[in-house]
Amino acid sequence: MSTFRFQSIKETANRRTVEVKELDKKSVIFGSNVFNDKAMRQFLTPEAYKAVQSAVQHGTKIDRKLADYIAMGMKEWALSKGVTHYTHWFQPLTGATAEKHDAFFETSFDGSDPVEKFGGSQLVQQEPDASSFPNGGIRNTFEARGYTAWDPTSPAFIFGTTLCIPTVFVSYTGEALDNKAPLLRALSAIDEAATEVAKYFDKNVKKVTPTLGWEQEYFLIDSALAASRPDITLTGRTLLGHASAKGQQLEDHYFGSIPTRVLNYMRDLENECMLLGIPVKTRHNEVAPNQFELAPIFEETNLAVDHNSLLMDVMQKVAERHFFKVLFHEKPFKGVNGSGKHNNWSMATDTGINLLAPGKTPMSNLQFLTFFINTIKAVYTYEELMRASIASASNDHRLGANEAPPAIISVFIGQQLTKVLENLQKVTDGKLSPEEKTDLKLNVVGKIPDVLLDNTDRNRTSPFAFTGNKFEFRAVGSSANCAVSMTTLNSIVAKQLKDFKNEVDALIEKKGLKKDEAIFNVLREYIKQTKAILFEGDGYSDDWQKEAAKRKLSNFKTTPEALKAKVSKKAMDLFEELGVMNHVEVEARYEIELEEYTKKIQIEGRVLGDIARNHVIPTAIRYQNTLIENVKGLKEIFGKDFEKIAKEQIILIKEISGHIEGINSNVDAMTEERKKANNLTSAEKMAAAYCDKVKPYFDVIREHCDKLELLVDDEIWTLTKYRELLFTR
Ligand code: ADP
Ligand code: MG
Repeated sequence: MSTFRFQSIKETANRRTVEVKELDKKSVIFGSNVFNDKAMRQFLTPEAYKAVQSAVQHGTKIDRKLADYIAMGMKEWALSKGVTHYTHWFQPLTGATAEKHDAFFETSFDGSDPVEKFGGSQLVQQEPDASSFPNGGIRNTFEARGYTAWDPTSPAFIFGTTLCIPTVFVSYTGEALDNKAPLLRALSAIDEAATEVAKYFDKNVKKVTPTLGWEQEYFLIDSALAASRPDITLTGRTLLGHASAKGQQLEDHYFGSIPTRVLNYMRDLENECMLLGIPVKTRHNEVAPNQFELAPIFEETNLAVDHNSLLMDVMQKVAERHFFKVLFHEKPFKGVNGSGKHNNWSMATDTGINLLAPGKTPMSNLQFLTFFINTIKAVYTYEELMRASIASASNDHRLGANEAPPAIISVFIGQQLTKVLENLQKVTDGKLSPEEKTDLKLNVVGKIPDVLLDNTDRNRTSPFAFTGNKFEFRAVGSSANCAVSMTTLNSIVAKQLKDFKNEVDALIEKKGLKKDEAIFNVLREYIKQTKAILFEGDGYSDDWQKEAAKRKLSNFKTTPEALKAKVSKKAMDLFEELGVMNHVEVEARYEIELEEYTKKIQIEGRVLGDIARNHVIPTAIRYQNTLIENVKGLKEIFGKDFEKIAKEQIILIKEISGHIEGINSNVDAMTEERKKANNLTSAEKMAAAYCDKVKPYFDVIREHCDKLELLVDDEIWTLTKYRELLFTR
């Protein structure tokens, strides 16, 4: 009897829902574990408070003396909440978050003068060993030391009994070793570029803030069941398992009533989020069984990125209390939907305007069209970089397959806006007659309905869709750190807006055009140039693959292919021009992502080989022996007639042998390919070998294992089955 599997199932069946402590109203508890404005006013001196505010709003430096005062206030606040430790909280290039806890507690070496201490220097800077985090060669070229530096734009928070201070992580020579530093630089680049363009429409605009609202999809699996599967434990996904008879075909899970155990988990999680100031708002079932989604109210992008990273951490911790494991993998189960993380993105001015929302007047609509069309142009110019920004071994399961947005980047804008662009394209070259201007104002720009929100038919197959007052980057993977896609998107739009400003200004200065004439002229050309990126049809269809090829859009199905765009001259120039990353930083990230890809496939290959040989084959042989015993018995009883009577059993015995042979020979061949790949010296070649030579064996081996799962006695099958993983709650 396969005890582990059945024990796990029994444990799961006996679960009680875990009661959740009722807290006060959300509006009351929101942000109470965050060193936010309210806490700062209470615990900081007026000078210290002003210094933080100025650093947040204008990026000014905080001097050491004030840092001491800020640290003191922060410590008092934290101690008043029972905190004992502090940590710099950062996002190294592993994609996860990192922390190293230090106690506030200090004493002299002889044990006298025990005291709780936390000074400005501990707040502002720390020195973790950079060599233990991925650095893509930056360490070798320069120095092993790295340091974390306080990012005042993301407030400190308390988790458990630890004060967490969001920081950037940079090498001693200043190269970014994390995802946050380039993101902050990209956000500052787009602020600068977009503010300049927004000033065409309103002189009072001083700052543009990109906004992000992510939607996190995930699977919840009972922790005992998850632990019974070595593949889930080690790779975050199932590497084999026959489809459950019932999957998502009845479409009865999506938006269905949330199971009580799960609901309690969500309530507990939402309470934690409220305390941490993460403004979660929406929760619902997703399409696949045991798949769910969580979405917050959108925020400033840097904070939203931090909140998503923090949330993923908190989700796993709260799940432990409820005996769940959260699967963030993009494709944990074959045959049912995978998970994504839609990145809803827009830009807001300090005057309170959403630059991607149509306005009430023709002028505000022209402003909307300007930012709208520039975004389309940016995506058109850098589509392959957008694709590269979401590439990972796990996201390949969605993008390369017939699920979720395809690997081709295109933009969906809906019927109404398509019409508006068609009309704008007819604008006269050069100066416009007064009649034409009036016509444009009344009939084109003036006619954008402010109810676009409801009218944009939601094309779910588009990787980058306009949804009324924001763009939605849908191809981002559920396990991704949003910083990577957001750094790319904000950089390409920043660059595009810079170019736009130059073109418009040139038309005004050299051709003597009026401002609005110049804008109309430039936008007209953009509309003509960027047609290839607009696509309103079914992104999952084969026709689109062919059509996209005709349009010369890139279509990279695998990560090693897609990543190359990151180190193209075009990409390097972009990041360098904007000051987002220098070429060393770009190359380092490329190297790290290739390595990560290789390691992931390598681990999956080993785990699959291990499970196939050490779980599946022994179980199959045990069952085959039972059959053999049975056949022998039949022969004893029936003599020469046995062949007819034992016919089916004999077929089964042969079939099992066939699959065992299939598993063995393919695991051997895969191991050989791994050995060959490991001998390659370039990271690029190694990743390609793992992708093209090693990975193809996964499906073949799985096929044999899954067939055996169907043949072998359920009682002795050791691996928890899909129906148990997906339908036990
Ligand atoms: P769905 O895409 O599932 O239909 P919604 O359109 O309601 O969901 O919104 C999805 C997400 O978009 C929410 O998390 C919301 O916070 C975010 N969002 C809404 N407006 C903006 C904006 N201006 N900038 C960024 N994100 C936004
Ligand atoms: Mg969405």
